[in-house]
Amino acid sequence: MRKINTRSFVRATRWTPREINLQILLNLVREHEPISRAELARRMKIGRGMVTYLTAELIAQGALYEGDTVDSPRGRRPQMLYVRTQDRLVVAIDIRFSSTFVMLTDFSGNSIALDSFDTIPDREALVRELQARVRRMLAEHAGARHCEGIGLVVPGMVEQGTGRVLNAPQLGWRNVDIRGPVEAALGIPVHVENAPIACALARMWLGQRGAAVPTDFVYVTVSDGIGAGVVVNGQVVRGQTNSAGEFGHVPLTADGPTCLCGGHGCLEVYTSNLATLCRYLGQDFSPSTARALLTSSGVTIAEVVSRALAGERRATDALQETARHLGAGLAVMIKTLSPSQIIVGGEITEAWEQLAPTIRREIGERSLTDLAAETPIVPELASAYPRLRGGAALVSAPLFAAPRIA
Ligand SMILES: [Zn+2]
Repeated sequence: MRKINTRSFVRATRWTPREINLQILLNLVREHEPISRAELARRMKIGRGMVTYLTAELIAQGALYEGDTVDSPRGRRPQMLYVRTQDRLVVAIDIRFSSTFVMLTDFSGNSIALDSFDTIPDREALVRELQARVRRMLAEHAGARHCEGIGLVVPGMVEQGTGRVLNAPQLGWRNVDIRGPVEAALGIPVHVENAPIACALARMWLGQRGAAVPTDFVYVTVSDGIGAGVVVNGQVVRGQTNSAGEFGHVPLTADGPTCLCGGHGCLEVYTSNLATLCRYLGQDFSPSTARALLTSSGVTIAEVVSRALAGERRATDALQETARHLGAGLAVMIKTLSPSQIIVGGEITEAWEQLAPTIRREIGERSLTDLAAETPIVPELASAYPRLRGGAALVSAPLFAAPRIA
């Protein structure tokens, strides 16, 4: 996916390919809506006739619509343009180690309906369950609106283009095609992506209207595992083998506990929700017993967080230990990438006020420069369902991304 810098498109005049101008215009509407044709012409430095022509095409495609007229100081009443998002639907699916979430959203990632169930380890049974739940959700909530795609996020590495899951240690999936079976079961196009990368795309493209698209940041997901979506110069970094950004499996200690990936002492075995839960329950982290422990204990990470917020010492201690290791892990990311900010998503962010001082202290002690030590660390609350917004972005964001120029 290639990003257009809508602030610097001097070269994209009427002589550049039509598609490029369509993308630029669409992005300008996304960023500045409601916006008039006159304002678009001014910002794009092209003639009004060209803007009228491009706008008509985008309206015909269903990407834009005309809304209210507004009064202008010179007495004319221009028709304002908006990106069409509300009546275009996406089904977002978030498959995790413990639970699977399904959300029906509009093209802006706004929730319409939400469903969840315990993740079924057997893949065929999981697809059948998804088929039943998605069909029911669409029947109950879609009405006359059209579902344009399914955005499915997984905790693992995904091959761009094919959507094949290369390795998802949390799910025990290696070289798995989940896109084909879900597409066949539901008859809707499916896009598959690594969850933290999807979160990063949502942050870029489903962010606040009128706000500039962030171009250099890391999105860290603290879930049953730990993942990172790295964005540099407005591009998601995937690497030559679609495995870049796997900070969750960078070891903090060479001889630490065994990780689901087979390695030892990974950041994930100290900081994932499973690790925090094990610590809270007084158990050593072990991939083989984690799932059984989850079901037998009946305690969830959300409960540990709320107990910590209520002042329970054991919960506070468990989370502080997570924060200490997370700080060490974020310091590795800062040393490697020097991002403008790191966004942290996940249930533990609900206790951010308790965690932030510890995380900051750990980063400060490990940073190589004063400025690096001050790298902003921004929480994104789990109540905003960032992973499901990520799923929605997989379907709606390509609308805003520029066509790739060979
Ligand atoms: Zn690992």
